[in-house]
Amino acid sequence: MIFRTKTSRAARPALRQVRTTAALRPLRHRLDPARVEEIPFRTSDGFRLGLTRVDTGDSGRPAVLLLHGHTASADMFLQPETRNLVDVLLDEGYEPWLLDWRGSCRLPYNETGRRYTYDDVALYDIPEAVAHIRGRIGDDRPLFVVAHCIGSLSLSLSMTAGLVPGLAGVVSQGVFLTPKLAGRTSLRMSVAGELLKKRIDHIPVDFRKAGLRSKYTPLFALASRKASCPDPTCQILHNSAWGTGASLFVHENLSETTHDRLAELLGPAPLWILPHLRRIELARSVVRWHDTDHRYRALPPNALDAAGSIDTPVLLLSGSENGLWLDSQKLCHQVLAHRQPQLDVSYTEIPGYGHLDTFLGRGAALDVFGHILDFLGERR
Ligand SMILES: [Zn+2]
Repeated sequence: MIFRTKTSRAARPALRQVRTTAALRPLRHRLDPARVEEIPFRTSDGFRLGLTRVDTGDSGRPAVLLLHGHTASADMFLQPETRNLVDVLLDEGYEPWLLDWRGSCRLPYNETGRRYTYDDVALYDIPEAVAHIRGRIGDDRPLFVVAHCIGSLSLSLSMTAGLVPGLAGVVSQGVFLTPKLAGRTSLRMSVAGELLKKRIDHIPVDFRKAGLRSKYTPLFALASRKASCPDPTCQILHNSAWGTGASLFVHENLSETTHDRLAELLGPAPLWILPHLRRIELARSVVRWHDTDHRYRALPPNALDAAGSIDTPVLLLSGSENGLWLDSQKLCHQVLAHRQPQLDVSYTEIPGYGHLDTFLGRGAALDVFGHILDFLGERR
């Protein structure tokens, strides 16, 4: 007994130290904790990411990697208050994997860490996570990817660079190779550029954290104009999408619990990413940011021009009311059908859905996930 007590006391300080350095915010889920394997994962350029595998006890299942949108996290696929995508995948015989790439709000450096562009996500985060999963599951098991928003946009760059070969299929939600932002959004992005000059480098979403009298107050005030919901966090996301003027979801599609958790599900948006986003928007294609840095030579300068190298079936999904990327997916389907008719690309529109609610919506399991399962089921 005495010996044991001494050992645990001696070990305690070291443990505390490990916990306080770079711990990810715990995932919110209602799975058996013993089944949730969190894998220490660092990219070759030194970013600590989150990689999570849900252990099903069945090593023969096809794997599905889920990629969140920028400022969201793996939590968007696990929300305990609704039947979520992970629940549905488990029930249908898949093994879910979740990557918190460097734009995740669960990561401890999310507001203070090194800056990056989507080139880095496409070059390091996604291919290295896919390679890790491949190493674990072997070459024989199918590996699918379901990706949302910027997760999907970055994936399109990885795919056209040939960095994630041999996927069994990809489901892309919201935007893929032909990004087209809501009209007012591009204008507001210039406004955001002005904010950058005032040394504001993140747009917060949690009004309680930002405080009543802060340099952000005018942003929240702008977002509250013509808003029908009194919640400032909801206003800045639903009515203004971090001050860009776009809308991230159809309000009535969220459950009350999800609505109250928005500040946890979506973190502050870094303004320093806007130059890359603006270049992408102007090109109406996913374009590489780094032109001269040789480390990024593996990425195509323009992903749409390199679409012929896509080697896997793609399902493009979008809500009919997407208030951020509009009909980008429909456009992508048309452009690819014309330019690359040999590719296996289909398009499904979800009536009455916006952008984030295709995953967060209280009825997403009924209205959206069936399309994803049909696609995976035909190719597993
Ligand atoms: Zn609201």
